Amino acid sequence: MTCNSEPVRQSMTQKIGFIGLGIMGSPMAGHLAKAGYEVVGFDLAEPGLAKLEAAGGRRASSIAEAVEGAPIVITMLPADPHVEAVVLGEGGVFEHIKPGTLFIDFSSIKPGTSQKVAKAGEAKGVRVLDAPVSGGEKGAIDAVLSIMVGGNAADFEAARPIFELVGKTCALCGPHGAGQAVKAANQLVVGGTYALVAEAIVLMEALGVDAKAGLDMLAGGLAASRILDLKRDSMLARDFKPGFRIDLHHKDMGTVLDAARQADVALPMSLQVAALIQAARAQGLGDRDHSALLAVIESLNGKA
Ligand code: NAD
Repeated sequence: MTCNSEPVRQSMTQKIGFIGLGIMGSPMAGHLAKAGYEVVGFDLAEPGLAKLEAAGGRRASSIAEAVEGAPIVITMLPADPHVEAVVLGEGGVFEHIKPGTLFIDFSSIKPGTSQKVAKAGEAKGVRVLDAPVSGGEKGAIDAVLSIMVGGNAADFEAARPIFELVGKTCALCGPHGAGQAVKAANQLVVGGTYALVAEAIVLMEALGVDAKAGLDMLAGGLAASRILDLKRDSMLARDFKPGFRIDLHHKDMGTVLDAARQADVALPMSLQVAALIQAARAQGLGDRDHSALLAVIESLNGKA
């Protein structure tokens, strides 16, 4: 479903409290401010606050200041502990939010944590959506993110004007936590694809084949993928500048394995991908792009 298929317009003078102005949150908050919302942002770090002001938003000096009186509150935080602290913790969002507020969490976290947040929100009359995104920093800057949403249909429709401003496609995937479940599946496929492209490069080079010509062939056949399209040249050049950091993908594979255990399903490939990403961290590649799985496969084969 495209985000702008059935636009439902809201008054653009509404206040939005936006917490987490990092790589993703900063451009997203900027789009909302430029569209005319009164965006009041909070972050522990200075750069995101300054960028929000440059985009026409306002900085807050606390979570309370960002949230108070806002009919819409948004978070875009790194991982589960940050979301739990910011939303449920002392002095957090749910201490200051008013009943009826639409609360959208764009962070990628465990489905169970999103369900816990939704339950706490329900007790306060807050309308909660989990809405993790795919598309990376470039997708956030270009406002073309894919947004995977969990929650109820009326809240999804109420949030659609926000999704339209930051994304290109969005879908209600099911009840609370369903957006996170789809995001976990997304990260599993992305991680697995990187691992297999890395093995394909190592195999072709070891056989004395022109790996660039080989990957060009793969990209035109059944093995084609967005990863081959976007990343084959940088992988062949061993350029692992992030992008999406191994550390964040490690967090996402933790979500996959945790969800699989909870659902009582065996996912052998997920275990392999998680182990390779763990190995990348152990090799000091945590802050490198996830395409650095190529360096892990090379080190397994004695190539430093
Ligand atoms: P980031 O680390 O750049 O930004 C997170 C921001 O949250 C930081 O600015 C940090 O200072 C702030 N923060 C942390 N704790 C806080 C607190 N207690 N109070 C206020 N602010 C706090 O991370 P990011 O790359 O923007 O990713 C955010 C989420 O989006 C993650 O869950 C990530 O997995 C997901 N994601 C990232 C990408 C990507 O390409 N970077 C793509 C899709 C999804």
